[in-house]
Amino acid sequence: MRAFSQSRHTALSDVDRTVRWCEYRDLPELQSGQFVSVMHRLDVDSSQLADRMCAVQLPSQECVILVLPEYLHDDGVLALRIAMGQVGLRLAARSVVTVPASVLSAIARKGRIEQRAGVSQSRLKTGSTSGHVLFSLLDDLLGWAVRHDASDVHIGVFRGQAHADVAFSVRGVLVRPVQFAKLSIEIMHEMLSVAWMRVQGGNGAVFEPQYEQQGRLERLVGGSRVSLRWASIVSHKGPSVTLRLLQRERSVATTDLSGLGYSEPQLQCLYRARLSTGGAVLLAGSVGSGKSTTLAALIRSLPPERKVITLEDPVEFDLPNAIQCGITAFGDGESDRARFDIKLQALKRSAANDVLIGEIRDQGSARALADLLLAGTNVYSTVHAGSALQIVPRLCSPTLGVSPDLLAVPGVLKLLVYQTLLNALCVECCLDHSQWLSEGERTCPLGMPITHDHAAAWLEMIEGCLQIDRSQFRFRHPQGCSRCQPLLAVSDSGMSGRHPDGEVRAQVSCASGHHSTGYRGSLMAAEFIEPARIVHFWSWIQSLSRMTDVREQARHQSWIDEQQKASEMAKIYVSQGLLDPREYVLRFGSA
Ligand SMILES: [Zn+2]
Ligand SMILES: [Zn+2]
Repeated sequence: MRAFSQSRHTALSDVDRTVRWCEYRDLPELQSGQFVSVMHRLDVDSSQLADRMCAVQLPSQECVILVLPEYLHDDGVLALRIAMGQVGLRLAARSVVTVPASVLSAIARKGRIEQRAGVSQSRLKTGSTSGHVLFSLLDDLLGWAVRHDASDVHIGVFRGQAHADVAFSVRGVLVRPVQFAKLSIEIMHEMLSVAWMRVQGGNGAVFEPQYEQQGRLERLVGGSRVSLRWASIVSHKGPSVTLRLLQRERSVATTDLSGLGYSEPQLQCLYRARLSTGGAVLLAGSVGSGKSTTLAALIRSLPPERKVITLEDPVEFDLPNAIQCGITAFGDGESDRARFDIKLQALKRSAANDVLIGEIRDQGSARALADLLLAGTNVYSTVHAGSALQIVPRLCSPTLGVSPDLLAVPGVLKLLVYQTLLNALCVECCLDHSQWLSEGERTCPLGMPITHDHAAAWLEMIEGCLQIDRSQFRFRHPQGCSRCQPLLAVSDSGMSGRHPDGEVRAQVSCASGHHSTGYRGSLMAAEFIEPARIVHFWSWIQSLSRMTDVREQARHQSWIDEQQKASEMAKIYVSQGLLDPREYVLRFGSA
C-alpha cells in the first residue's frame, strides 16, 4: 500500500477542490447505522486518517466521507476522494459529511469490528447472517429467552470484569444460565456493536457504551419473528443493555375469560366491568403476569355493538373487533409526545366506547387516560404497581400526575387488579414432604442445598406460618418425569438437574423455575378491588393527598386489610398441592 502522502502528490491537481458538504444529522441513513466502511478498499494509509475522517458506503451504493468539522478542508478529504475514484466508488452529490468526534471514533471502532468478525458488505446489505458468529451468539441468547419464556435479556458489559453479566427475566425473576456465564466482555461488546447496526429507529449510528440508547430490533429465532426493544443504561462501570422481547407471532386473543385462572368471584368482577359504562379497568403485575392476555380477552369479548380502539406499543394480539393502533413512544421526546397527543385527539373524535391503552407509563398516556375518563369512555390499561391498591397512588404520583380528585369521582375507577403467574407443579411427579426430606436434591427457596435437618426445621416453620398441614404440601421433582420433561430444551445445561460447576448463582437460577422439569403450566394469583363496593374508597383517595389523622388512617387500614391478596390465592394453591411452598416464599416473602 502506498503512503497517503504519495497518492496525494499524484492526483491532487486534477480534482475539483470545491467540497459540497452537509451535516451528520442531514443523513438519516447514517444515524440509523445503514452504512459500511470502505476504508479497507482504499489505497490510503487509513491509520493516519482514522482520527479525523473515514469513507463509508450508503445503502444507495453512494459513498460519503465523514469528517470532523475542523478537518472539512483538510487535504485528506481530497486524498480520500481520489482513492475512492480509483477503485470505482461513486460519491454522493453532497460527498462530505461533518460528524462529531464521538461518532467518528465509534464508526472507526465499528469498522474494526466488522473486519474482525468477517461481516462482509453483501451480508450487511442482504441481511443474510447465517453462520455469523456474533449474530448466532445473539440468536442463542434470544433462543434461550424464547424457550424459557423470558421477558428480557440483560447484558452488562462492565469494566474490570472478565465476563459479561448475562441474565434473563423469567416471570419477574432474574436468571443467569451457566452456559452464558463465561462470555468475555470483548465478545459481548462486539456482539452488541454488530447487533446495533440492525437496530431501527435507534439514537446513534453505532453502539455507544457511554450513552443511553434505545431502538428496535427484529430477529428470526427458531423460525418465528421476535421483536425486541433495545434500551441501554450507562452505569459507572459500563453499559447494561436490556433487550425486551416484545412479541412473538401475534396470536388471536382468547374470548374465554374463565380459562385464565381467576376465581369465580373475580370472574364476576370482570363480567361486571365489561358490561358497565364509563370508568377504568386497570391491571398491575410484573412482566409475564398475563396482564395483556387478560386485557385482550376482555376486549375481545366485548359486545359487538361497542366501538373499540386500542393504542398499543406494540400490538400484541389480534383483536378482530377492535381498531388497533400501534404507537411507538420511546423516551419522553417532544416529537413522541406530539405524536401521542395527535393520536389521542383523533381518538377522542372517533366516538369509541372502549379504549385500550397499552400502558400508563408517562404523563402523555396518563393525560390520555384522564381525558378519556372525563369523556365517559371505558378505558382498559396496565399500570406499574405492586398491588391492586397501589395503582391509585401510582397514578397520582408526580411521574404520572393524574389528579386524585378525578380518581375520587365514583365510577371513574371501575376495577383494579394485581396479578402474578406462578409455576404449577407437575402432579405426576411432585414429591410429598417425606419424599422431599428423604430423597432428591433438597434446596431452600433460594435454591441453596440444605441438609436434612435444616429442611425438617424449615418444613416445621413454613407449616406454622402458612397454617397448612405438611401432608398437603407438594414439592417440585428436580428431574421431572416424562410428562413434564420433554418441555426442557436439549441444549439447556441444566437438563440433568445439576450443573457442572457448583456456582451458587446457577443454583439460584434453577430454583427460580426457569427449568420446565417438575412444572406443568401456570397458576394465576390475583387480587381484585372493585372501588364501588368499598364504602371508604373515595375518602381514602382524597386522604392520599393530605396529611390525615391517625384515626382516619386506622379506619382505612381496616378495610384495606379485608381485601383478598394475591398471596392468599397462592396459599390456597399450596394447600391444594399445586404450588411448591418454596415458590410461595420466594414470591411473597415469609408467610
Ligand atoms: Zn412431572
Ligand atoms: Zn439451571
